[in-house]
This record gives sequence, C-alpha cells and structure tokens, in this order.
Amino acid sequence: MEKQDTKLTVKCPTCRQPAAWQGNAFRPFCSERCKLIDLGNWAEGRYNIESIEPPDFPEDDTDGTLPEN
Ligand SMILES: [Zn+2]
Repeated sequence: MEKQDTKLTVKCPTCRQPAAWQGNAFRPFCSERCKLIDLGNWAEGRYNIESIEPPDFPEDDTDGTLPEN
C-alpha cells in the first residue's frame, strides 16, 4: 500500500538526504546551504565555494573606518 499524504519528500541532490517537498522553499534541496552549494558547483570556475557563505555581517568598503557623525 502506498501512503501519500503530505509527506512528499525528495532526495537532496547535494547531501542525498530526504528533503521535504511541500513547504520547502529550497526544494529539491533540503536547505538553503545545499542549494547554494549546488549553485556553486554549477558556477564552478567562476566562483569559489568560499563565496557561498551566508552573509552574517555586512561588508563595507570602508576599512573599519566609519564616519562617526
Ligand atoms: Zn541537502
């Protein structure tokens, strides 16, 4: 018997783990990270994996010298 409720899952192309399909904004990936990693693979030669880190902090051109005013 097949039970097909809302538990639709796909296999994440990046980490091979089951990822939810419904309500998953990053499908068919399991997470944003895996999606970015895959995009990085596609863009291999143009971008480095290192550039696929989440922007935890804003990058400014100012070298730590912000105008305090
Ligand atoms: Zn994954």
